[in-house]
Amino acid sequence: MKKLLTLAVCLFSVTALCAQTQVIAHRGYHATKNSVRNSLSALVNAQDAGVYGSECDINETADGVLVVVHGPMHEKYRVQETDFATLRAQTLANGEILPTLEEYLVQAKKNTATKLIIEIKDHNTPARETRVVKNILKMVKKHKLVNDVEYIAFRQFVCDELVKWGPKGIKVAYLNGTLTPEYCKGLGYTGIDYSFKVMQQHPNWIKESHDLGLTVNIWTVNDPEGIKWCIDNKADYITTDNPAEAMRQLGM
Ligand code: MG
Repeated sequence: MKKLLTLAVCLFSVTALCAQTQVIAHRGYHATKNSVRNSLSALVNAQDAGVYGSECDINETADGVLVVVHGPMHEKYRVQETDFATLRAQTLANGEILPTLEEYLVQAKKNTATKLIIEIKDHNTPARETRVVKNILKMVKKHKLVNDVEYIAFRQFVCDELVKWGPKGIKVAYLNGTLTPEYCKGLGYTGIDYSFKVMQQHPNWIKESHDLGLTVNIWTVNDPEGIKWCIDNKADYITTDNPAEAMRQLGM
C-alpha cells in the first residue's frame, strides 16, 4: 500500500512538473542593467536566471555569416545585404559586439539547462532559406547541442525545411498563427508558438495542441495579466521580455 502511495505521489509530481508553464526570455534576458536584446549578456542572464529558454533571432549576412540580430536593419545597414565586417563594426547600444550564432552556441554550451530557442528570420529566396537552415543545423551539430536547441520561424517553408533536413526529434514550432494545431501536426512540427492575440481568439487551440502532443508557446507576453492568462490556460511556454514577473508568478 505504501509503495502504491509513493508511486501515486511520484506520478502526480511528474504530471505537475510537466504541466508547469515555463519561461522563455524573448531575445534573451535583456531587462537588466547594461544588457540589450540579442546580446551575449542577455543569453548569460537567461542562463543565470535558470529560465527554460533564451530566444534569439538569426539572419545571414551578405557574405554568409549567421548573426544574432533581429533585423532587418542594424544601425543604418540592411543585415542580409551587408557584409559581416561592416555590421560587426557597429556595436550594440550597450557597447557589446553584435554576436555571431557561433559565439552564441559556445555560450549556450556552457549551461545547457537553458535551451537556446533559435528563430530563423525570413530571407529573400527559398534557396537562401534552405542554405540558412542547413548551415544552422550543421553548426548546432558541430557544437553538440542537437538536444539543447529548439527552432521557430514565421515562414512555413523554413519550418518545413527544418523538419526535412533536421535530425529525428527536432523541435520546430510555427510562429505565424495562421495554421491550426492539427495542420501543424500533419507537417511534422512539434508545437505552435502563436501571439497572445491569436491565442485569445483561439483558446481551444491549447487543449487541441496538447491532445495532439504539440507544445504551446505564447509570445510576447509582458504584462502581469497576460502572463497570468497563459499560466491559467496551461500554456507550456511564455515568451516574454519580462521574465522576472513570469518567474514571480510561477514561484521560481
Ligand atoms: Mg524572435
